[in-house]
Amino acid sequence: MITGSCLCGGVRFAIQRAVGPFELCHCRRCRKASGGAFVAGLGVRAADFELLEGKELIATYEAPLLESPPPYRVSFCRRCGSPVPNPQRGATWFEIPAGLLDDDPGLRPDKHIFVELKAPWFAITDTLPQYDKPALLALRLAAQLEPLERRYREWAAPIDRVIKEKTARLNRNGYGAGDWWRDVQSVRAAQQAKDDPYAEMYALLDLLCPRYLAAPPVERAAIRSAVGGRVGMLSALLGYIHRAARQIHSPADEHWLIHGLAAASIENCHRDFRDVLLALAELYVAAEAGGMDPKPAFARVAALSDSDKPAGGPTPVREMLAHFHDYAVLAERKARAGAR
Ligand SMILES: [Zn+2]
Ligand SMILES: [Zn+2]
Repeated sequence: MITGSCLCGGVRFAIQRAVGPFELCHCRRCRKASGGAFVAGLGVRAADFELLEGKELIATYEAPLLESPPPYRVSFCRRCGSPVPNPQRGATWFEIPAGLLDDDPGLRPDKHIFVELKAPWFAITDTLPQYDKPALLALRLAAQLEPLERRYREWAAPIDRVIKEKTARLNRNGYGAGDWWRDVQSVRAAQQAKDDPYAEMYALLDLLCPRYLAAPPVERAAIRSAVGGRVGMLSALLGYIHRAARQIHSPADEHWLIHGLAAASIENCHRDFRDVLLALAELYVAAEAGGMDPKPAFARVAALSDSDKPAGGPTPVREMLAHFHDYAVLAERKARAGAR
């Protein structure tokens, strides 16, 4: 049992254990709230926390939202002004100001964060890793993506296996493309009946796409790099473009066009250029059928996209989106739509 208390002793709490991370935050708000060079925030599971005394002394101040939720919130003792821990309802994990602890939590600080906002009069002299905002964003996103990625890989393994197995048999002993398709689809359907890893990944993308569009360039690059190399997420991004196309019915659905384009920009042609082109052609045709001119939206998201050559194709996504209306794949898709 590790205990902690405020300056006057009116608020007392105990934790079973600290799980980390243990971060030293140099952001402006943490410096203001603490009056120090940084806040030492120790990660604790809400289930391991118990408030022993002083509930009535705890007040909370919520600072105006800077960019995106959650808001910056600080709880403090009404009598002595010490910051105090105050887990939000429903939170499974939160940070406690480590300076309040009366015992050794066992853990030691593992990183400095928001170092670009550090006080000019303070020098970091230890060797802990230092994260600025984009690096921290990439780290947090990676931590969010990892469990989804593991679930996807487990889900996709039998499908990948049947594809490999049946592809080896293809065109031998009368085993044709139709048989291949039937066998792969039946395994896929069985997996889909068991679990749908995409729903959660799409929910994450519903939040990530608008955030990506509003982010400064370094943060957009951080998001792209956090996603790149994660097969589940890349697959979900592709599916998300198709899904966005299906949501468009009228000009009021323009945000789906923009979010679909954001997904393409995040995916950054990491895996297969042609798959992305086909998905974007769906999106383009859906927007036109919904009464929109997709060109300005393509141009807008092009300007936010990567100008380097992607891993999975010949043309930077910035250039590809800007000139998408000239791509043959779009003309082919339009011809198919017209022939119907
Ligand atoms: Zn107090
Ligand atoms: Zn902070």
